[in-house]
Amino acid sequence: MELIIKNGTVVTAKETYLADVGVAGGKIVAIAEKLEDPEARVIDATGKYVMPGIIDGHVHLALPFGGTVSADDFSSGTKAAAFGGVTTIVDFAIQMKGESLADAIARRRAEADGKVCIDYGLHVGITDAREEVLREIPEVISNGCPTFKLFMTYDAFVVDDGTLLSIIEKTTDSGGMVGVHAENHKIIGYLTARLLSEGKTAPQYHAVSRPDWCEAEATSRAIRLAEAVGGKLYIFHLTCSRALDEVVAGRERGMPVYAETCPQYLLLTADCYLEPDFGGAKYVMSPPLRTAFDNEALWKGLRDGYLQVVGSDHCPFTMEQKKLGLGDFTKIPNGAPGVETTLPLLYSEGVLKGRISLNRMVEVLSTNPACLFGLPNKGSLAVGYDADIVIFDPDKEVVLSYQDLHMCTDYSPYEGLRVKGYPVTTISRGRVIVENGIFTGDFTHGRFVARRLPQF
Ligand SMILES: [Zn+2]
Repeated sequence: MELIIKNGTVVTAKETYLADVGVAGGKIVAIAEKLEDPEARVIDATGKYVMPGIIDGHVHLALPFGGTVSADDFSSGTKAAAFGGVTTIVDFAIQMKGESLADAIARRRAEADGKVCIDYGLHVGITDAREEVLREIPEVISNGCPTFKLFMTYDAFVVDDGTLLSIIEKTTDSGGMVGVHAENHKIIGYLTARLLSEGKTAPQYHAVSRPDWCEAEATSRAIRLAEAVGGKLYIFHLTCSRALDEVVAGRERGMPVYAETCPQYLLLTADCYLEPDFGGAKYVMSPPLRTAFDNEALWKGLRDGYLQVVGSDHCPFTMEQKKLGLGDFTKIPNGAPGVETTLPLLYSEGVLKGRISLNRMVEVLSTNPACLFGLPNKGSLAVGYDADIVIFDPDKEVVLSYQDLHMCTDYSPYEGLRVKGYPVTTISRGRVIVENGIFTGDFTHGRFVARRLPQF
């Protein structure tokens, strides 16, 4: 063996037990009460949790948006991810108008390959559903991109309901899965125009322009469309109780609909938009932050199994970039940093506060994303799996600050929040890439993962 992690508490979606974990050739080769090998490097994990690395299925590195580009590129973003215990990200290849899906994937891979310290995959964003583009879908799926994102809003990306229906049908036929950004585009346009005409241009009106019922309506519509053609559906970044109700109703009818939420929707509320001196712009993202009632509904949804995944929707901008929207909230780049803080937030605010169990945390951060996004060798700790491992110190206390975090931005939505429990060592396919606050990885180690079909 090359590496033995000794004396730790192994945590998977199902079990928690004391064991040593042996690694060779990038894989887990043994898990047993006591492992010995004089040749192996030993990491002592006494008092720590040994968990499968986090799989963040919702990350936007170097995303062009609203005349600027999100501030983390593939190197800085995957390095920050590694510090947060993340060993795989799924980013997006969003098709440009006129482009083929294959070209969109190749273009994105050219930006990422050789610049990532952890493994990555790509969801395919379809924005221009020409006949020949629809015909590409089976091949795109068999080439390792079995999951798609369709936008029900955003002028640059939006698809109409007929297109959404046909893509769900086509994707399902080939064993893939469509995910949606669910908000009602026309209603947002109407509410936004009304607010701007009344001179309501501050960040707080971003939330007013995209109310929860607007998300719930689109969520319901997408579920009904998928149901009509026997398709499966994934809801990205579900934020509110009303949209959750639609998922619950769909699932109770037997519909295979899956949903993700994000730490910001579990922990923050629309009151953040009132932060003075344009501070509210930090939290401008879509869908927007909601209420404390919604936070609690989402924790319950996670606990009860109606929400299956927590992703970060990491899409950082600097305050300078956010100022593009001074005097007009519609021009504030949408997004916030998060890939590095998901795990400590879920543990400290979720597990320690009794909202979800430790095993459930591993399930929603790693095991479920591995199944739903087609990563069969990842998402658990078992012999034969990739040695993607995070060692987590449940006693380590950290006051979160953008100055200590590694994401390329000059604020954190959680600035000053004290968390208990923090990832201390991150291992990607057997390679130690973060250890005791030091980055030891390199950017040729990470690989594009040709993903398999989602498992439901
Ligand atoms: Zn997103």
